Amino acid sequence: MENLPVQQLDHLKDLLNQRERALRADILREANLQDDYAQLASEVPDPGDSSFANLAVDLGNAAVTRDLNELRAIATARTRMENGSYGECIECGFQIPFERLQAQPAADRCAPCQDMYEKTHADSTRGASL
Ligand SMILES: [Zn+2]
Repeated sequence: MENLPVQQLDHLKDLLNQRERALRADILREANLQDDYAQLASEVPDPGDSSFANLAVDLGNAAVTRDLNELRAIATARTRMENGSYGECIECGFQIPFERLQAQPAADRCAPCQDMYEKTHADSTRGASL
């Protein structure tokens, strides 16, 4: 298996760092929003308003869950950079194209394997379809 050139790897490391900072900022913002909604819900005892606040908190949690999952993927990508398996598809073992890694530096599957994975795991990753 051919490894990525150091220059490309460094670039992807930067992308991972940037993405991680953005995600952490996002989570902080969501946490602050939830405080605001919680306060709103306690200040306004109207049933309509508090159910709106609950809905907003639920939506916030979904966003935070997504962010946390991505942070986990970034941590995994870093570990794989350290042990030299980064850039290799975990399903088929082929090199993931640099263009794909640039778009999604935490990707651990090539595009065809990711498609397949999403199709076979659609039920667990998505809610009820409309
Ligand atoms: Zn693959």
